[in-house]
Amino acid sequence: MSIQQRLAKLNPRQQEAVRYIDGPCLVLAGAGSGKTSVITTKIAYLVQECGMSARRIAAVTFTNKAAREMKERVGSMLKGKEGHGLTVSTFHTLGLTIIRGELKTLGYKAGFSLFDPEDAKALLRDLMQKDAQVDADQINRVQGQISTWKNDLVLPGQALSHAADEDEQYAARLYEAYNRHLKAYNAVDFDDLILLPVVLLQRDPEALARWRRKFHYMLVDEYQDTNVSQYLLVRLLMAERETFTVVGDDDQSIYAWRGARPENLVTLGEDFPRLRVIKLEQNYRSTGVILRAANTLIANNPHVYEKTLWSDMGPGDPIRIVVNRHEEAEAERVASEILTRRIKERAEWRDFAVLYRGNFQARLLELKLQHYQIPYKLSGGTSFFSRNEIKDAMAYLRLLINPGDDNAFLRIVNVPRREIGPGTLEKLANYATERSISMFAACHELGLEQVLPTRAVERLSRFTHFVDGVRKRMDQGDAIAAIREMMRDMDYEAWLHQNASAPTVAERRMANVWTLIDQLEKSMEREEGEETDDVQSAISRLVLRDILEQQAEEDDSDRVQLLTMHASKGLEFPHVYLMGLEEELLPHRNSIEAGTVEEERRLAYVGITRARQTLTLTLARQRKAYGELMDCVPSRFLDELPAEDLEWEGRADKEDPDKKQARGKDAIAGLRSLLG
Ligand code: ATP
Ligand code: MG
Repeated sequence: MSIQQRLAKLNPRQQEAVRYIDGPCLVLAGAGSGKTSVITTKIAYLVQECGMSARRIAAVTFTNKAAREMKERVGSMLKGKEGHGLTVSTFHTLGLTIIRGELKTLGYKAGFSLFDPEDAKALLRDLMQKDAQVDADQINRVQGQISTWKNDLVLPGQALSHAADEDEQYAARLYEAYNRHLKAYNAVDFDDLILLPVVLLQRDPEALARWRRKFHYMLVDEYQDTNVSQYLLVRLLMAERETFTVVGDDDQSIYAWRGARPENLVTLGEDFPRLRVIKLEQNYRSTGVILRAANTLIANNPHVYEKTLWSDMGPGDPIRIVVNRHEEAEAERVASEILTRRIKERAEWRDFAVLYRGNFQARLLELKLQHYQIPYKLSGGTSFFSRNEIKDAMAYLRLLINPGDDNAFLRIVNVPRREIGPGTLEKLANYATERSISMFAACHELGLEQVLPTRAVERLSRFTHFVDGVRKRMDQGDAIAAIREMMRDMDYEAWLHQNASAPTVAERRMANVWTLIDQLEKSMEREEGEETDDVQSAISRLVLRDILEQQAEEDDSDRVQLLTMHASKGLEFPHVYLMGLEEELLPHRNSIEAGTVEEERRLAYVGITRARQTLTLTLARQRKAYGELMDCVPSRFLDELPAEDLEWEGRADKEDPDKKQARGKDAIAGLRSLLG
């Protein structure tokens, strides 16, 4: 299909948004109105119609899943080399690219490490325990505070001078020490991926000029969820040319707790007076009933911009609300319904999505789905990267590119077993801290003989020599071959066998490690015409993916989708179940207490607007909490939906016995036909 044909399929307002390229553009519109479609078409338009090189274009979005989907959509529009060098990524990956390109200017050495939240926590714990015993809560609080500062672009000095009380002063001092240590370890944390580029571009006009030359056009999806640092990154890069398109929906802002600032929508108009605002009002996703429910619900929130969404898809089925005795019955009901409805609706497994507020709600459901042998995919559950063997292998990779990475060192210095005990490591750590060097570097120091017995020193240096040897081989030639050889040389597999309950378990784990290394190798192969990638950047990208990718590996096979409402942003499914429509669950107890129910309402709005054809809301009368069975109160959001469009099931006063029987028959008929 040509770009002209593609444009012709869009409505006039969408076309305007795609065609307008002379200045800043904001598409502000409700769910399912084609905002993401505008972005993908516009990328193709810029390349095919305006002759812009794809490598001058950056499109950013929020999750890896969304970035992947966008890449696929754009990939199908661009032919051959047209798409080479195009950046479609998350904000964090874009930040990583900039940091990698500016390592020297930023004062980092090649092969820096990316600390995941666990590493960062370990570092904070060390720093905090210097003064006093601390508990996990305190560490989490300080970590959260530091993250908020970084997202709001508050540097340690500013944090200290603005600290309102002693607690904040304490956190600000830790913030300073934490950053200093990260730098000493040649490491950055997750929030730094945005903060460091922004600070650099603000301070260094030459670096700014370099990146402005690189990117000529930017597109941002889910703009309502950008935080201050992310907004500044876009503003810095685009301030001169003013060539960007951002799309968003203030009603879908659900990340305030992570520093998102929906006010950025307003700021944009102030910072760019030439901003053209385009509103889209037709929804192409959902039936009339579903859309009306979403509109009525969100009308209970105050609004920055008024929007009205309409759809010409016809009213569709009423929204069902299914009340269950308890949470187990709720899970059972959802699973058994999907089993029968798949046949009745002539649908595939992947057409069904079950959304919930918290991941814990998926556990019972998983059991029920397994019971009926329904294939499903859980997003945000145990991912490939959280497996122990993968964490070990990643720690080796991290140590190989940056021997100063103490967390990686500690994770694997005794894996496989090298008889290096905690006593030795503690003394080594003290020795290293006193001299402000890494533990790996400390192993090479002669002075170590004075604090550790000779045997311990020998074991440590045998380990560092082993690692140094691998590093040398990596530098000399085939880095991937050297890594594979390392795994064999240390007989990691034997170690897995010693620690596994069964040989097959160990084999599977080893296979996972090989898969990881294969992936690393694959990610180094670049498209024709690109400069070849070095193993260091391939490894840092893997680490980043490890952090970002809470969801499991790419997998678009035919499965029922299980995901949190947060993770469902931007996606759509023919049949959607929203579980746990109860007070304290949705809206969540914390937000009721904190007075932030509006954000929960937006979350419910996001959930509802994922549905194309049918929507089912479920709740339980009783649920286990803190080991006890508690009575549940139906969510206030149910009262906010248009009563005439709802069909209640299982509520004593509304239950229609005939219907119930009919439903039972349906289920049986469905099961029969399934069994052939
Ligand atoms: P969300 O707010 O949930 O992210 P969105 O505004 O990004 O939604 P899209 O995902 O781009 O909306 O589009 C929703 C659906 O409507 C998609 O299935 C898309 O293919 C379809 N669509 C978008 N524009 C049109 C159009 N002009 N004609 C027909 N279908 C369209
Ligand atoms: Mg979208």
